Amino acid sequence: MLVLVINCGSSSLKYTLFSHDQERGSGLVEKIGEAGARHTRWVNNARRTPRAVTVANHEQAIRLMMDGLVRDRLLASASDIDAVGHRVVHGGSQYTDATLIDRGVLNNPIGRELAPLHQAVYTGIEACLKMMPRTPQVAVFDTAFHQTMPPKAFTYALPYRYYREYKIRRYGFHGTSHKYVSLRAAELLRQPPRKINVITLHLGNGSSLAAVRQGRCVDTSMGLTPLAGVVMGTRCGDIDPAIIPYLMEREGLTPRQMDALLNKQSGILGVSGVSNDLREVIAQAEQGRARARLALEVFAYSIQKYIGAYHAVLGRTDALVFTAGIGEKSPYLRKMIVQGLPGLGVKLDAGKNRRTLSREGFIHAAGSRVKVLVIPTREEYMIARETRRVARAARR
Ligand code: AMP
Repeated sequence: MLVLVINCGSSSLKYTLFSHDQERGSGLVEKIGEAGARHTRWVNNARRTPRAVTVANHEQAIRLMMDGLVRDRLLASASDIDAVGHRVVHGGSQYTDATLIDRGVLNNPIGRELAPLHQAVYTGIEACLKMMPRTPQVAVFDTAFHQTMPPKAFTYALPYRYYREYKIRRYGFHGTSHKYVSLRAAELLRQPPRKINVITLHLGNGSSLAAVRQGRCVDTSMGLTPLAGVVMGTRCGDIDPAIIPYLMEREGLTPRQMDALLNKQSGILGVSGVSNDLREVIAQAEQGRARARLALEVFAYSIQKYIGAYHAVLGRTDALVFTAGIGEKSPYLRKMIVQGLPGLGVKLDAGKNRRTLSREGFIHAAGSRVKVLVIPTREEYMIARETRRVARAARR
């Protein structure tokens, strides 16, 4: 079964073609609607020379993608594709699982209003529906895995009518990643998911944690939007909400400017004044730059507090699972985070931590009460799996 996975960002299109579980080809169209757009393709993991392209919108990017797949002989035509899986950021509470795309998904107000930066996904879906009208199209939501959270975890203590009227509540994101690594952790621990409790740490430019009890998410750190939770590359994470009106008044900021300040100028970049890229911040901290060091400490501490809270919620934690850019590639931060958890009885094996880069592995020391794993996330693969499951069920 040939499944095409599509991930539309605000100015990019990423796609991967799977034949069953095997990745056959993939591509990236960058800077859509801007000068300097380019299209990079990979065929059976070999990278082709990127091509400069002119591409005004995501519909044109979808056409470029299809031309590329045919040119690379991965397909004879679009009709070879059995199903298309789209990553959709916000499904609201209506979508608790991947679903066949219909008008309801396309017009889902929460998806449209709460993820304004992610509207490109709808253009991408419409373009695919036009190009492949008979091929099942499946939406895989970043929020779906977290929809098992109980009301006490997702309700904000605001006047209740805002939940009723505007559906303001915690939703959580990176769900496909949390789901994949929690399932994979169970396999590596040789236990069925329903027998274990894990805390998953998706630490990338955007970061979130999830408490997963017996295979079901019971809490997660992001909220109504991906701004909440732990400190991130450029996002502030949790702050005192009173800071927002205070700063808006003091600095004469509009809501849009305030939103940009919290989302794009804060976090590790804001504190360090160096970069949102942890590699640069670590390098500066090692050279003795105090604010770079402080940014790392604020970042690690915000994560430690969530681990502590989720451990309390779970009652028993079998494993911590690190994933995404920082989680997979930074022994430095993994050590910093785990060392600050003395009450948990968790100990790292320094050598295993150092050697486990961008690959799966256990990194805890013998005698550690909680196991620690690194699992590279595979969101595209997971979207392909979900797409196949939903498309097959729809055929029956
Ligand atoms: P992601 O959003 O998952 O692609 O993660 C990207 C982020 O991972 C970058 O912005 C870096 O901050 C971080 N990162 C990648 N490699 C390393 C590394 N070797 N050490 C520390 N941070 C890293």
